[in-house]
Amino acid sequence: MSAGFLGRGLYWVSAFSIDGLVIDAGAPRTQRDLTRWARGRRIDGVLNTHHHEDHVGGDAALASLGADVWAPEASLDRLAHPPRIQIFRQMVWGRPAPLRAKALPQRVELGGLALEIIPTPGHSDDHVVVLLPENGWLFSGDAFVHERIRYAQADEDASLALRSLRSLLAHDFGEVFCGHAGYVPAGKEAIRRKVAHLEEVQAKARLLGREGLDDMAIARRIFGRLGNWHWITRGWFSEVNLVRQLRLGPDGA
Ligand SMILES: [Zn+2]
Repeated sequence: MSAGFLGRGLYWVSAFSIDGLVIDAGAPRTQRDLTRWARGRRIDGVLNTHHHEDHVGGDAALASLGADVWAPEASLDRLAHPPRIQIFRQMVWGRPAPLRAKALPQRVELGGLALEIIPTPGHSDDHVVVLLPENGWLFSGDAFVHERIRYAQADEDASLALRSLRSLLAHDFGEVFCGHAGYVPAGKEAIRRKVAHLEEVQAKARLLGREGLDDMAIARRIFGRLGNWHWITRGWFSEVNLVRQLRLGPDGA
């Protein structure tokens, strides 16, 4: 599904469905597409990987069609009382309606599926991924997104996200279903390359930091000119955040 501004698709987000279970539900502004797809299908449950508006925005619409909604325990308050978000996020995604969801257990059994819920904090403090061990499928929410990311949100913790990604590699899976990259066939290898990329950025950021450069200068040295998102979001989604979070993370993170 895509959400945009003035009729132009700006940003894409995926929701996935297996046997009556929907994993993540897109944004408030994409819920019409989701509802159109959902009509006439059996949907028993919706499972959210984290509380961000571009993943929970279709929950209310699916709940009104009879689906139960689950989310990580740490997300429940934020789903019931959606936090204020910046204007550009409201314009692109919209602000979700308040919603009561149930706390996700470690294991979900639904319609013959057995799913494991694995905490992967970093992108957000409540983030989880969903593993379907039988098929080796990983539903990664926003834990992956891109192999060579250059931006981080101001409220992320990229060092913790790196640690979560490393811990994921210990699990048995092959294919990845990502909230923004969609279907990634050799997903585990892609995650391995993302870990290597983040480790490289972290090592360079620390080295340049020890030489006395500030985070803005380090970001320019590593990535070249700062990208559009840095300017559009006034630094909220920026290379400078990625550098700072990786540089300051604990050793071995
Ligand atoms: Zn997110």
